[in-house]
Amino acid sequence: MMPEDEARQRVRESGGDELCERLLHLDAIRAARAERVPVIGPARPDEGVTPDYDVVIAGGGLWLVVAPLLAARGLRVAVFDRARIGQAHREWNCSAKELSPLVSSGLFTKREVARLVVAKYDHGVCRWHGGGSYPVRNVLDHAVDAGKLLAAVRARAEARGVALYDGEAVVAHAEGPEGVALSTSAGATLTARILVDARGASSPLSTADLVCPTVGGVLAGLEEGDAADQIRPDVGEILATTEGVEEGRQHIWEAFPGKRGEVTVYLFYYALADAPGASLVSLYARFFQKMKAYKRGDFRLVRPTFGFIPGWSRLGPGPASGRRVVLVGDAAARHSPLTFCGFGSALRSFEGVADAITRAAEDPGGKGANVLPNDAPIHKGTGALTWLMATPPQEPARAGELNDLLDTAFATLADMGDEAYGALLRDEMSAKDFVRFLRTVAGKRPRVYRDVLGRLRLFGLGRWGFGVARELLRAS
Ligand SMILES: Cc1cc2nc3c(=O)[nH]c(=O)nc-3n(C[C@H](O)[C@H](O)[C@H](O)COP(=O)(O)OP(=O)(O)OC[C@H]3O[C@@H](n4cnc5c(N)ncnc54)[C@H](O)[C@@H]3O)c2cc1C
Repeated sequence: MMPEDEARQRVRESGGDELCERLLHLDAIRAARAERVPVIGPARPDEGVTPDYDVVIAGGGLWLVVAPLLAARGLRVAVFDRARIGQAHREWNCSAKELSPLVSSGLFTKREVARLVVAKYDHGVCRWHGGGSYPVRNVLDHAVDAGKLLAAVRARAEARGVALYDGEAVVAHAEGPEGVALSTSAGATLTARILVDARGASSPLSTADLVCPTVGGVLAGLEEGDAADQIRPDVGEILATTEGVEEGRQHIWEAFPGKRGEVTVYLFYYALADAPGASLVSLYARFFQKMKAYKRGDFRLVRPTFGFIPGWSRLGPGPASGRRVVLVGDAAARHSPLTFCGFGSALRSFEGVADAITRAAEDPGGKGANVLPNDAPIHKGTGALTWLMATPPQEPARAGELNDLLDTAFATLADMGDEAYGALLRDEMSAKDFVRFLRTVAGKRPRVYRDVLGRLRLFGLGRWGFGVARELLRAS
């Protein structure tokens, strides 16, 4: 494999020092996860406190999107970020209807949203090593210019009087009955009625049980054409594998064409959050090394994008908000545990979350801020599938098993029709369809049924006595 120093250097050359520092910071945080040292926090604010702000948002990434909404409701809002606020280090794909809240919230006009979309695809495809290719429509078929989107959200927040603290991290907090005290890396201590934790995977409250380490970025120079190892500008490649389990992990690729001549390509894998995992730098080494097996062309990394996306299997307790501390985005991990589409999930929920934060901020004596949106029932089932993918067989002789299973699963989805197939990837599949899907796959691969059911029984029956777990057991 390529030496890690070389991989780091390639990221630095195309992304610059600041981005490289962010990469190393994420790796360091993950490495230290097991031994998180509690930071001495400020004193709890007393009852009757008059806070400096109604709402402080820690983290100005994607969830900055609630800041202008809260300010428009008359709340005094501040945002702190350890880097620059509203600076995207991602490229984002979503399905068409997920974009509409950007308009209904009053943040953007339809025309402005249309200008944020850099590419639309005729269809998407999932393909498995040694298996088939399975096209699907209306899923992740819009590529959004994340940088432009967040820059515009930042401008709207500023125009509405939100106080922005670039380069200042929130390092500790203490919850009182009617407010939160927090301290920052600049040595400041302040109070707020509500603290919104939008620090993503770096949040100390991010306790989700799955993780999806992801590296890649915008590439130029990949060859266009119809072959599987070429790029079709009108097709989004949602999931693709080029090998079996290696180094204990099933690596998966995705490729989404963007502006003419550019493609966003990622390499990722699913893992249990507390399992020892590869660093992002070592995953980059694999990315550069193995790219030729995935796509042809003498590529250039135009802009690196990477991160650890937390996921919650729903097979145990998830990250929980406090009374005055609201978890959102990756810190809360309420997105699909199968697709890890935090952007789509944020678009679907940010208006409702902003409403709930407003209610909690305006009522200091109230019940507080349990504002997380209702969970999609399908997550209770897909979490078990992801758990399965995060713990693939380790014996070399079984390296191809997961690919075979995924191939069977996606062939089944394709047979069920575009509607059901798309619904699973958009978090919309009904429990009934999910059971039908699982039973069909199980008929072809009985071991899956046993494994998934076993896990739901083991972890979930008490907690998830309703919904999918019950239906699955009834169907067994
Ligand atoms: C490479 C990659 C590609 C992705 N592609 C897609 C996609 O195509 N579609 C999709 O739906 N989802 C996608 N996702 C998921 C999506 O990007 C995330 O779910 C989403 O960004 C989460 O938003 P967030 O606001 O919670 O966290 P982030 O956007 O990660 O923002 C967290 C912010 O907190 C700041 N921060 C960290 N620590 C502190 C601190 N102590 N104090 C203050 N600030 C702090 C960080 O600097 C950062 O700005 C992708 C994720 C990755 C990593």
